[in-house]
Amino acid sequence: MSQRYVFPFGGDGVAEGKPDKNLLGGKGAGLAEMSHLGIPVPPGFTISTEVCRFYQQHDGKYPEDLAQEVEENLARVEREHGKRFGEGKDPLLVSVRSGAPVSMPGMMDTILNLGLNDEIVAQAISAGAESRFLRDCYRRLLSMYGDVVLNVPHSEFEEILEQARERQGVETDAQLSSEALVDVIAAYKAKLAEHGKPFPEDPKEQLWGAITAVFESWDNRRAREYRRLQGLSNEMGTAVNVQVMVFGNRGDDCATGVAFSRNPATGEKGIFGEYLVNAQGEDVVAGIRTPQSISPDGDSSGMTGQFGAAYETLKGVCRTLEKERRDMQDVEFTVDGGRLYMLQTRNGKRTGFAAVRIAVDMVDENLIEPAEAVARVEPEQLSQLLAPVFDLEQKQEAIARGDRVAEGLPAGPGAASGKIALSAERAAEMAVNGSVILVRAETSPEDIVGMHAAAGILTARGGMTSHAAVVARGLGKPCIVGAGALRVDEGANEIRVDDRVLREGDELSIDGSTGEVLAGRLTARESEVLQVLMEGRDETPASKAFRRLLEWADDLRRLDVRTNADTPADASVARAFGAEGIGLCRTEHMFFDEERIAWVRQAIVAENQDERKQALEHLLPMQQSDFEGIFEAMAGLPVTVRLLDPPLHEFLPKGERAIAELASQMGLEASHLADVVDRLAETNPMLGHRGCRLGLTAPDIYTMQVEAIARAAVNLTRRGIDVKPEIMVPLVGSTNEMERLRSMIEATLQRVLSEEDSGLEIPIGTMIEVPRAALVADKIAVYADFFSFGTNDLTQMTFGFSRDDVGSFLPRYIEDGILRGDPFASIDVDGVGQLVRLAVARGRESRSQIKLGVCGEHGGDPRSVEFFDSVGLDYVSCSPYRVPIARLAAARAQQD
Ligand code: ADP
Ligand code: MG
Ligand code: MG
Repeated sequence: MSQRYVFPFGGDGVAEGKPDKNLLGGKGAGLAEMSHLGIPVPPGFTISTEVCRFYQQHDGKYPEDLAQEVEENLARVEREHGKRFGEGKDPLLVSVRSGAPVSMPGMMDTILNLGLNDEIVAQAISAGAESRFLRDCYRRLLSMYGDVVLNVPHSEFEEILEQARERQGVETDAQLSSEALVDVIAAYKAKLAEHGKPFPEDPKEQLWGAITAVFESWDNRRAREYRRLQGLSNEMGTAVNVQVMVFGNRGDDCATGVAFSRNPATGEKGIFGEYLVNAQGEDVVAGIRTPQSISPDGDSSGMTGQFGAAYETLKGVCRTLEKERRDMQDVEFTVDGGRLYMLQTRNGKRTGFAAVRIAVDMVDENLIEPAEAVARVEPEQLSQLLAPVFDLEQKQEAIARGDRVAEGLPAGPGAASGKIALSAERAAEMAVNGSVILVRAETSPEDIVGMHAAAGILTARGGMTSHAAVVARGLGKPCIVGAGALRVDEGANEIRVDDRVLREGDELSIDGSTGEVLAGRLTARESEVLQVLMEGRDETPASKAFRRLLEWADDLRRLDVRTNADTPADASVARAFGAEGIGLCRTEHMFFDEERIAWVRQAIVAENQDERKQALEHLLPMQQSDFEGIFEAMAGLPVTVRLLDPPLHEFLPKGERAIAELASQMGLEASHLADVVDRLAETNPMLGHRGCRLGLTAPDIYTMQVEAIARAAVNLTRRGIDVKPEIMVPLVGSTNEMERLRSMIEATLQRVLSEEDSGLEIPIGTMIEVPRAALVADKIAVYADFFSFGTNDLTQMTFGFSRDDVGSFLPRYIEDGILRGDPFASIDVDGVGQLVRLAVARGRESRSQIKLGVCGEHGGDPRSVEFFDSVGLDYVSCSPYRVPIARLAAARAQQD
């Protein structure tokens, strides 16, 4: 075997064995695999990604043997097909298609119908070929070659085509007559000549021009941008596929289409897709004509009627591919004279809804194991299932008012409202000040940044597989496409729908689950899954799949998942989501209640013991009932209560009025109180008089809180409720702080519990959030039953970044690559992570049974969860809505 760079597919002489995606690209490997499976694929060959790397490294030169290998492979295809490339009477046409190891939809180029020129077209027609069809192929070749290889803007060809349609008075290209196409071809050639880039008449020159253009397209700006956004390597390179053409544009028994083996929005079983009669592939992807649905609900139109046999074959192909690839497939096909040909298969992109549903269904179909189902769903995708839907009543009212301005295809589920932005650039700008709906006639790869920035995406044209739909699903954004009633006029900064005008900046709402477009801003309400979990609604297919997937995740994970919750309501939500306790119950939120804040302030500014006592006596029963509510909501599960933490200034009265009010309550002169407040003011409160420092200088506050916890626990225990409180001291940095606070807390517990004659055991632990605490963790552990890493403060203090001020420089840091990402969102493994590792090791050294957890925002971030799993924490704790995400992330962490 001397062949090194070129690999055949389709027909005879194709090597068996699992094709290598890295070498052949996804498209090439898929074509080879389909040929092995006996699926009808037009024959061709793949020039490997190695050639792309060679080409890049050698300034656009090819390996010496490549030309020879291409010749041999072309000859094989010619033999098999009984036609010759570049021959006049019955010419063989080919497509030249890009295809990288990782799918990059619409990013690189493809050229169809190569192998035609004036002479060949004339000869073939006089030999009996259908003239309209051949000319249609030729004009497509001229414009694609002109655009992709010769860099003449696509729009210039579109203009000529539009003029031709107008002249003939027809709506679509498919209706253009053969004679009209003669004019189009002449105009195209003139256009190319006008640009000084005449079309190469020699078919071989066309072939190599196209191959080179595809290799070049690997490095074009939008492809590089896409790889940057997706975190893909520039090294892998693209393959080039040269393939015999089959024709969807040969008449009314021909079509081109795209399909998913299951619904990519909901995951429902059954072929889902679209096709266009008498068209070539580019027509579908471009979204210029809105295609027909392959199998519309309860309707015998679609492919079943028109293309019955091809449809049956397609169903069989999808079944075979799913069985072989054990995943939902996204396929491209062409029907030529009633016969089906497959042109591409890949694992389909899908919404979070579909990801969960398909993974669970495939377990039931014995295609995959539960562990694989867990590996198939990205934790972040679950948030889509929890995302809000519009309040139904409000929506009905809006519809009654006539605010439902249009309907389109529901391409990406979820509800989104925001201000209209009519270009990607404007969307990115406007998104800084609030949510934005990007509205376009159709989107193209250049729009990617604006699509990222928008809360939702709406296009007037295109189908379920248009660029907008595919990208939005990948991003998990609500999206509606093909809302044909919209006339988007970017130049005039407005959208017209019949007589109504919507301007950029106006509020718009889109329901990506139903396809409805509504003027104005609607409020969203709980998702279906939430309604089942929280309101006892009957299980739906989506909620059932959600539950089962998470049960499998629970079997796999080692980490416990707790929640950060301050109220019984939050606690119940988290519990419904599967939280196994509260890892952080912040007590200060309870203090800000209107009835209480004055007493809290009095306790803080109190000048003597008596004043403070009086204030705290008021607060004690309130705190106690708070804890009772939370302990009850979490019956049977641990609840870690953090003692008062925030900086003093957050509680101090601000402004004359608040000071006067508090003064009168305390029986003080306002001016005197103002002095006290002045004295307590700090320059840098976040590093000031807060947390355990307050607990040590004003111990009565902590004592009151501990007493409230103990009394709440005793009360509930008496009522037969199982309570497991844990007391957590914030902001400890030195051993003495912990030692003293522990003995204070123990003394209070002892007093209350013996008074109440209770044998309750309440563990006492600390946060590790000051870097010094991590360094002396072995000594602190002597006095702590547990550690909970407060990674928000720990990150702040390790970097020396003020959490409240990072906004001014962090985005720039990330853009410039100084930091790889936001360390407050995903844990900085190299730095902050080292402190965590160290504290874990030292903590266990002196107290082997110490319980270890994390309660910072990072507890709900999948990448951070993976890290916490790897360092051996016992649990992570996160906000209620992220509990399912953390459960799944914890399971997946065990898998890698
Ligand atoms: P992309 O990666 O952008 O999807 P493709 O290489 O898949 O580009 O080509 C786009 C479309 O062009 C295909 O879906 C198909 O409809 C059409 N096409 C490509 N090659 C052929 C061929 N050999 N015969 C018929 N149609 C083709
Ligand atoms: Mg394709
Ligand atoms: Mg903190």
